[in-house]
Amino acid sequence: MPPPYDRLGRIAPPREGMPECGTPAQYAAVHSERLRARAEALPHLNFRAEPWPAPDGMAAVIYGGKWIVECPCGEIPMASPAWDEARCFECGAIYRRLALPADREAIEALLLQRPTAVTRTWLPGEPLDDLRAQNAAHGIGVAGVGAGRVEAG
Ligand SMILES: [Zn+2]
Repeated sequence: MPPPYDRLGRIAPPREGMPECGTPAQYAAVHSERLRARAEALPHLNFRAEPWPAPDGMAAVIYGGKWIVECPCGEIPMASPAWDEARCFECGAIYRRLALPADREAIEALLLQRPTAVTRTWLPGEPLDDLRAQNAAHGIGVAGVGAGRVEAG
């Protein structure tokens, strides 16, 4: 079975990983409920029971076909550029006003030419030419070569 995001046709936001989080309001509600339920179930471990606002401007990264943020707690929660939000289900942090690249659509388009989600990774500051060169090195996006590999989307 292929990984779930190979044929998605876009870089995955949180609702792709958590279908019950189809709207920002549902995402917020599920986040709050899961934090509260874990804290109540395991009181001796002193988990935080409520979400909390992290500082603005956390960098959004593409890793394995997903938008993520690298939370200082060690978790890498999925991020939504459209909702401008990421919620950490480990420590409860809420990230808003994400630092997104100005050329986000071009980055996504180049990564979506790759056939598998695990190869779709971009780090802040990584130039488009690097992504093009990586694609070309694998026969992707070169005229007449790899044309069949472009995902519909
Ligand atoms: Zn966290």
